[in-house]
Amino acid sequence: MQVSIACTEHNLKGRNGDDRHSKQNSSGGNVVNAARARFRTVAIIARSLGTFTPQHHISLKESTAKQTGMKYRNLGKSGLRVSCLGLGKSTSITFTNILNLCLFVAEQLMTIAYENGVNLFDTAEVYAAGKRSSLVITTKLYWGGKLQLEYVDVVFANRPDNNTPMEEIVRAMSYVINQGMAMYWGTSRWSAMEIMEAYSVARQFNMIPPVCEQAEYHLFQREKVEVQLPELYHKIGVGAMTWSPLACGIISGKYENGVPESARASLKCYQWLKDKILSEDGRKQQSKLKDLLPIAERLSCTLPQLAVAWCLRNEGVSSVLLGSSNPEQLVENLGAIQVLPKMTSHIVNEIDNILGNKPFSKKDYRS
Ligand code: NAP
Repeated sequence: MQVSIACTEHNLKGRNGDDRHSKQNSSGGNVVNAARARFRTVAIIARSLGTFTPQHHISLKESTAKQTGMKYRNLGKSGLRVSCLGLGKSTSITFTNILNLCLFVAEQLMTIAYENGVNLFDTAEVYAAGKRSSLVITTKLYWGGKLQLEYVDVVFANRPDNNTPMEEIVRAMSYVINQGMAMYWGTSRWSAMEIMEAYSVARQFNMIPPVCEQAEYHLFQREKVEVQLPELYHKIGVGAMTWSPLACGIISGKYENGVPESARASLKCYQWLKDKILSEDGRKQQSKLKDLLPIAERLSCTLPQLAVAWCLRNEGVSSVLLGSSNPEQLVENLGAIQVLPKMTSHIVNEIDNILGNKPFSKKDYRS
């Protein structure tokens, strides 16, 4: 099960020098606890401060923070406002690798994200082959178990297996919400049919339906988010929180001449990614990325920024989850916000022509 934390207000003050605390605690457990405590505090303080945008009625319009330029959208048709860029877990770094570096980087990433207006932090209970996340913000939510955080905004249910009746899943998620442990629930990697079924079951038994689906979405993976989810959004208000905007780094352009040692694809547990990159399809993708470079240059941005902005231009997407392995990548990717206004229909068509994979949709959701 996955948990997303959306600090629903974003008026958090500076960090007030509490860096001291983490630097002193350089050993594993303490750092974990310090980081956990700090983030819990961040989440709670952020929630208790005044509203970011006073809302007397639910507006589904995007709003922009003056200071950071970050844009906020509703999660599906719910009242939860999330930053259009969210921070995912950095899957390239594993707990077993370098514990302290991991914690340090994770904290740096969260700080940078937060200071740039991100109010959505996504994490999962299972991390890299069953290891716990370095920054255990915490996501241990088993059926009948307890959340380590007192409260999260959105809880996600992984794709149902064939043995669990839909009614049980919806009942369990409704229970989590009714117990006050979460405000909303979402689905992760569910098919449109499964989401529809969950919605119907919820309506039939007076339970709570999901508000969003976590789905893969990037230049090379479009069908579900561009064709299936818009229909669900219009019919039942389920929005899209998308992941892997750079296709696990493939769209960064760094794999043009093979697999660099420092990249995710060189990790043993990412052999499948390496195989994908080196396959014939992978080479074709790299060639398309090369063709996209002149567009990025014209827009004065990098390829990752273009790719993230391209995801954001889809108004059906509530939030794009960024996965960054280091602060430099995160800062670069957050820069996509500045590229978004440059994503005119002309540019989008140009990109479509290069990609040649625009899915057929009865109705163009974006226009
Ligand atoms: P992604 O953006 O497609 O890939 C992130 C990786 O790309 C980074 O770890 C880094 O890998 C590389 N990268 C990022 N920015 C870069 C840049 N500017 N230049 C060069 N390389 C760059 O995102 P993702 O990590 O696959 O997914 C994002 C988040 O979505 C995850 O963190 C997770 O929270 C969520 N997610 C959810 C599900 C689900 O089933 N619900 C599944 C997957 C992910 P290197 O180490 O190679 O530098």
